[in-house]
Amino acid sequence: MADYLICGGTSYVPEDGNTGAQLFATGEGLTYHDFIILPGFIDFAAEEVDLTSALTKKVSLKAPLVSSPMDTVTESEMAIAMALCGGIGIIHHNCSPEFQAQEVMKVKKYKHGFIRDPVCLTSNHKVSDVFDVKKKHGFGGIPITEDGKMGTRLIGIVTSRDIDFMEPTSDKLLSEIMTQFDDLVTAPAGVSLDKANEILQRSKKGKLPITNEQGELVALIARTDLKKSRNFPNASYDANNQLVVGAAIGTRDSDKHRLELLVNAGVDVVVLDSSQGNSIYQINLIRYIKNIYPELQIIGGNVVTAAQAKNLIDAGVDGLRVGMGSGSICITQEVMAVGRPQATAVYKVAEYARRFGVPVVADGGISSVGHIIKALSLGASTVMMGSMLAGTSEAPGEYFFSNGVRLKKYRGMGSLEAMERKDTQGAAADRYFHGEGDGIKVAQGVSGSIVDKGSILRFLPYLVCGIQHGCQDIGSKSCSMLREARVKNKDLILLFSANPNGGEC
Ligand code: IMP
Repeated sequence: MADYLICGGTSYVPEDGNTGAQLFATGEGLTYHDFIILPGFIDFAAEEVDLTSALTKKVSLKAPLVSSPMDTVTESEMAIAMALCGGIGIIHHNCSPEFQAQEVMKVKKYKHGFIRDPVCLTSNHKVSDVFDVKKKHGFGGIPITEDGKMGTRLIGIVTSRDIDFMEPTSDKLLSEIMTQFDDLVTAPAGVSLDKANEILQRSKKGKLPITNEQGELVALIARTDLKKSRNFPNASYDANNQLVVGAAIGTRDSDKHRLELLVNAGVDVVVLDSSQGNSIYQINLIRYIKNIYPELQIIGGNVVTAAQAKNLIDAGVDGLRVGMGSGSICITQEVMAVGRPQATAVYKVAEYARRFGVPVVADGGISSVGHIIKALSLGASTVMMGSMLAGTSEAPGEYFFSNGVRLKKYRGMGSLEAMERKDTQGAAADRYFHGEGDGIKVAQGVSGSIVDKGSILRFLPYLVCGIQHGCQDIGSKSCSMLREARVKNKDLILLFSANPNGGEC
């Protein structure tokens, strides 16, 4: 490998290093391990670095971090945590369309402040119905209204504490255990969030129903949501103050039904999940979606060349997912002999896509904060991670012990294990096989396990802080400045050096 030497700085002409264009001009494929960024000039604090980045043409994130649509990485719990920390989660599709839509709905229903469409029951419902709601939606504070719907007279509330010691199958009527209306603390319609917060604090209750003059329920406020929103100032919200969420789908005809359920559940971004996205199936689906759901943001992929990207951009994608063979559990390059080293793939596609204002998600191969910074410096707007986020408490699956170490399963969606999962309608396999029926499945991924990493709610702030410090060392005050520096001789020139040891320094 050529010995590239680089340095960065204000209006500095790089005589002893290479710009991105020079680094990748040789045609040699580089991975994140094959180069390093030289430091620039620091005249700002790390916490000032603005990490706001575009996920798609219309969805922007305060942290450039995306969790991968894998069944050991992203379901609603992960997606909620990712969005609270400023990123986004993409719900996997190795499950029934109904299950996936429900996971999307759980994220969209997770609201700080006013819950305008809480699940309600009637006093004739049973304790077992409350357990069902808890299992389905993950919350236990349920308003009891005259006919079990919003907008009718509030007559009581049932909380988790009311059913704590009851059997999940109990058929006791809620009228016998609920807190009656006269004992409830409520707030009048039109109350401000601050005022409602104050009432909740004084009452020490978990839920605050909001009623109109007729005593009808118009909203609900949850103490936990209020507490969380105070802790997460960078959370990713849509225009209705709901957390943003993405979902993956395949490119088969049956995925149109899945898509409809996801759209009805409120999904913000749909990711067309294919290991090789440059196909007639994907192009047709992009056109279909743009026609039926013009507001829905589409991330196409995966691609690793400008030629692949061109077809998807021409078809109308709002973002591109880049990576083939770069994932930690991936054996695509070995099995298929197709792919591209990830650093080159990100640089080449981002370089092309930026001319059309299409943001790039660098997908796979991220195993350190440094890799995130490198991906962003090559032109990616966001990074998608699997192994980095697997093993956290929000990742699906149970922990288990092996030789005294606490682990969680992590597997490729192209592993035989994932492709053979029942009740998925072949969704995982569809990522790797284009338009074929159920033939012989050639595995393109493997299964393994990841050591317990604790909660995403602590891990993501660590990643964010790490990225800010990396940007500071480079001399870049924002993610957009980092991306621009790569291509324009403005305030800063991004300069790269080969990393002869192949490791991080
Ligand atoms: P990681 O962050 O390096 O673990 O890579 C995660 C990425 O690997 C995912 O976002 C997918 O693009 C890709 N991927 C997931 N499952 C497989 C597989 O079975 N084979 C190949 N690539 C996979």
